[in-house]
Amino acid sequence: MHLKHCFPSIQKQNFCVFLVGCFAFIPILFSSRTLTAQTLNIKKQNCHLSKEDTATIDKIARYEAAFYNAVFETAKNDSLNINIYVFGRKADFKETPDGENALHVSGDGYYWEKTGAVYLLKTDHVNEALLHEISHVFLHYNFNQPPKWFDEGLATYFGSLIVEDKQIFYTPVVGRIERIKELVSNRSLNLEDFLNNNNRNWGDDINRITDKYTVAYSIIYFLVKTNLNLVKQLADGLKAGKASSTVLAECFGSMGNFESRFSGFYKQQN
Ligand SMILES: [Zn+2]
Repeated sequence: MHLKHCFPSIQKQNFCVFLVGCFAFIPILFSSRTLTAQTLNIKKQNCHLSKEDTATIDKIARYEAAFYNAVFETAKNDSLNINIYVFGRKADFKETPDGENALHVSGDGYYWEKTGAVYLLKTDHVNEALLHEISHVFLHYNFNQPPKWFDEGLATYFGSLIVEDKQIFYTPVVGRIERIKELVSNRSLNLEDFLNNNNRNWGDDINRITDKYTVAYSIIYFLVKTNLNLVKQLADGLKAGKASSTVLAECFGSMGNFESRFSGFYKQQN
């Protein structure tokens, strides 16, 4: 079965931005091992990417490579070549390996594991979509068959990064955070259930898929904001074959502690 990682075009972001924190677990984050310009091989068809867009994508892609290097204690992501096809016309995007399916679930981009390539329809949030899909490429390069929630949560987080004044910032995805606050306050969120029933197929019910992306993103966002090392601990545990809930219980003392810290965090978000 081919794996598909769609980028659903649903959320609006505000412009409340925060400088991305340093990785506590990587003192040499941006060392001399930098990506070359050839690492992202962007092929455009009937569309154009501005110089600013290209510079932003390149800078954040380097950051993603450094992040995945740190998480997986490697340097191999620096030399990963990623083929990216960006289409100006929907008809052309539809002709790509999984383009029709992606459009069916309102996605405008996906990572196709079979070829390791990214396919995108150019929209006004092309940067966000591209950074999302690049995260899938990096994660799969380091981790065969990662849990879907982990994969999409990280990708959605990276899609929320922006560059301003040559620095990388993240923008909390307001629509998703509002939705999580709602789920937390009406007690309709069962994180253990979400984590334990997280198979590769999220179905084709748009509302349910949207909520799954939101929950996945909200867990990653909570972990990143709490302590970036937690992402590394989680990746280590998952890669060792442990269940997500087992690793989170180890990180927080118990699954109950994790859930109450998570709920408390979102209750405090404005
Ligand atoms: Zn995705």
